[in-house]
Amino acid sequence: AGRRVWNFSAGPGVMPEAVLRHAQAEMLDAAGSGMSVMEMSHRSPAFDAIHTASIADLRTLLAIPDNYHVLYMQGGATAQFAAVYLNLVGQGDTTTPVDYVVTGVWSDKAAKEAQALGAHVRRVTDTSADRHTTLPDAAALALQLGAAGHGDRGGKPAYVYYCDNETVHGVEVSPATAVLDHVPKDVPVVCDMSSNFLTRPIDVARYGVIYGGAQKNIGPAGVTIVIVRDDLLQRRVPAIPAMLDWSLAAKNNSLYNTPPTWAIYISGLVFKHVLAAGGVTAMEAQCAAKAARVYAAIDGSGGFYRGPVHHAARSRVNIPCRIVVDGAPAEALETQFLADAADAGLVELSGHRSVGGLRFSLYNAMPMAGVEALIAFMAQFQQKHG
Ligand code: PMP
Repeated sequence: AGRRVWNFSAGPGVMPEAVLRHAQAEMLDAAGSGMSVMEMSHRSPAFDAIHTASIADLRTLLAIPDNYHVLYMQGGATAQFAAVYLNLVGQGDTTTPVDYVVTGVWSDKAAKEAQALGAHVRRVTDTSADRHTTLPDAAALALQLGAAGHGDRGGKPAYVYYCDNETVHGVEVSPATAVLDHVPKDVPVVCDMSSNFLTRPIDVARYGVIYGGAQKNIGPAGVTIVIVRDDLLQRRVPAIPAMLDWSLAAKNNSLYNTPPTWAIYISGLVFKHVLAAGGVTAMEAQCAAKAARVYAAIDGSGGFYRGPVHHAARSRVNIPCRIVVDGAPAEALETQFLADAADAGLVELSGHRSVGGLRFSLYNAMPMAGVEALIAFMAQFQQKHG
């Protein structure tokens, strides 16, 4: 049957085993259709049922209000970096500023993409001086965003953009320090939730747009979920590519062209799985428990393992970690750690290639047993090499 490993990848990441088994059982004949979902026409009644149920289940999971559309887009979250600007820029008025809260590589890339398209990008804040190990100071944010709201900083922005969880740097915006609190009510907030989607309840009504790629907490790569308030569909530039146009997707129920049917199907199975497991409130509790175990292991290692991120900014789902000897990262030991871990069935533990070190990603589908296995391995490794 093959061997399952503990997969700590930052994405595509671990899937719930029950979902994989469900898909396996339906591979040759899905719901009496006599075919796999990947063989179905996207216009067939059988696929329509899958598509419709998946959206309904996501709406239930996040209590999405009726005046929000749920769209299935393609091109990854990266395509949305451009789509955000092109859909919201205000009918082509490129002088309208757009505000970006830059807390890591993903919000930085989003800001750069908008800029490349001609946007008047203002970096409300940028934590790159701290190598993205902190979150912006709440008071400074309040001042900046508040001033912009009054038009004091060269005009009111078309939107304020932030990334809820920076996957590479392991920085997460906690609800308590939310950017949301400081944005003027009439300025829509756009949020990239790619890596912490469905890990806690959110108040959708406070956002203009929430989006994320599926390949971390939801399903396979290939589909990006966009949740957008309906009044924001009137603001796009006239020359928007069809594949980035939210209003076109909304008008066509995400079926303007062939959607990523398989990715939508698997995402739908995951939504049902999460609902049955108690919804996002249950995910939040599990997520907190898993993260607490790993951070306790890091903080309790006497400095052998060290998390570079400041406590208040620590992500619950992506945990960067260095092995430190004599006050410096010990790269050779980290390489050894990765090799020995793989031998023990613990894989994808390396940090993003831009930052090095180790990174433990704890998405919804990672069971506590996997976390326990990781912690036991960390202790063993330290005993041997610490
Ligand atoms: N935003 C975040 C927070 C991410 O983690 C990633 C991918 N790791 C992206 C955007 C880009 O996603 P994609 O590769 O689907 O374009």
